[in-house]
Amino acid sequence: MITVDLRSIPEDECLPFEGNLADDICQLPEKDAASVAGPLNYRAEASIVSGNLLFRGDFHLPFEFTCCRCNQPFHYTIRLLDHSLLVPVEDLSLIDLTDALREDIILALPNFPHCNDGDNQMDCPARGKFETEEDFVPINPEKARTKDSSSWDTLDKLKLD
Ligand SMILES: [Zn+2]
Repeated sequence: MITVDLRSIPEDECLPFEGNLADDICQLPEKDAASVAGPLNYRAEASIVSGNLLFRGDFHLPFEFTCCRCNQPFHYTIRLLDHSLLVPVEDLSLIDLTDALREDIILALPNFPHCNDGDNQMDCPARGKFETEEDFVPINPEKARTKDSSSWDTLDKLKLD
């Protein structure tokens, strides 16, 4: 949890915060294509802006994704830079920013994760396979069918064993 005690923020001033949070704040379902792969790293400043707590700074959270093209697992760090979280103060003195941050991180997750976009910028082995590219040569449909059916046969044999 990232909590801010409002009483610790001097009037009209910013209070710096930084740290690593090991808790998995995202709590994604296990079957999800993304899973948290390390601590949340943050460096931000807290201030009160017209009845809201403004928590503004950089948030980094490493994830492991499965490439939607080649199925390889890869690491990709979600980076929210100069990002603002705004939470109404109401009558509270202790503000929990976890929900607001979780929401923004989940919104930043890619819908179609590609391993070549990851931290290591791997070369996706399936890149371009399903896209029409300049050097795209239409394959002979007859040939393709033969090739396909034989690979299905191989798969069937494997299943029987
Ligand atoms: Zn890939």
